[in-house]
Amino acid sequence: MRRKGSHMLQLNHIKKEYKTGDLVQKALDDVSLNLRDNEFVAILGPSGSGKTTLLNVIGGLDRYDSGDLIINGISTKKYTDRDWDSYRNHTIGFVFQSYNLIPHQTVLSNVELALTISGISGAERRNRATKALEQVGLGDQLHKHPSEMSGGQMQRVAIARALVNHPQVLLLDEPLGALDLRLRKDMQNELKNIQQRMGITFIYVTHDQEEALTMSDTIVVMNKGKIQQIGRPEDIYNEPKNAFVADFIGESNILNGVMVRDKVVKMYGREFPCVDGGFAPNEPVDVVIRPEDIDIVPVEQGQLVGTVTSVTFKGMQYDIIVDFRGFKWLI
Ligand code: ADP
Ligand code: MG
Repeated sequence: MRRKGSHMLQLNHIKKEYKTGDLVQKALDDVSLNLRDNEFVAILGPSGSGKTTLLNVIGGLDRYDSGDLIINGISTKKYTDRDWDSYRNHTIGFVFQSYNLIPHQTVLSNVELALTISGISGAERRNRATKALEQVGLGDQLHKHPSEMSGGQMQRVAIARALVNHPQVLLLDEPLGALDLRLRKDMQNELKNIQQRMGITFIYVTHDQEEALTMSDTIVVMNKGKIQQIGRPEDIYNEPKNAFVADFIGESNILNGVMVRDKVVKMYGREFPCVDGGFAPNEPVDVVIRPEDIDIVPVEQGQLVGTVTSVTFKGMQYDIIVDFRGFKWLI
């Protein structure tokens, strides 16, 4: 019996390279990560940052070059092919952007097939497949063919197929990427609900920061094969660890400054309060200022004085560009 909240997957210093001719691509460059039971984790990063490679290593589809992947406390360094097969069939479920359904079979048969592969047949197979489809809201669509369904419905079938073997972890690689915005939002909520209902770990790859911020308990931000930051959505947004994370998540103004002392930063010869500490006195830093944290006030009350160069209505807010000595602030 595993303890709730214990670490079920541990990645220690995982490296993975791809060699194409003379070119060596570091797809995963010293990645360390602990994943708990019953956690919704987003792997977030731009295209080519190593997200799919990370997911495939976690899922046993790709082998790592060095480091270790520890599953439920056991190192996979000595895993045989049979161990990997068993892990992929019993511990892990996969959902990809392309649904990979068999077109000439019904929805029910598509889900049943996953159980056939695990050696389950007869009434048990039918009952479990039906239940999995009910869980994703397709209880009344069992005998349709994939061609008779919408993209959102087909993705639900793929999710049911991945869940029918009761995996401990569901791996999802940009699963909503092919859906239109409205449907994406609905499916985001639904996936989150399924995760909470089933009480299993979801590892969800996306390049969409808003999706990551709204769905996850933990976000892992990647760039160039390296983890940039791991944290709760609020921490990632409010206290990005570096300029890459600040720039990638939300809008931000990034300026050069100097840490005068803990919680005081100096820019343009003036001191401002800030949230960080632990720097050397007068250490140069990147200062990240979110647009919504800046107030526009009458000139005589302002700390910095600039010129408004554009105002754009965005529905929820106005985006105002202010030129200050050549730097374009977004406010
Ligand atoms: P992401 O999913 O974040 O877009 P990937 O994990 O697919 O990124 O790729 C990470 C890096 O590894 C990229 O530079 C990509 O070109 C490279 N890469 C991925 N798969 C292969 C492969 N099979 N052969 C060669 N290079 C690959
Ligand atoms: Mg990818």
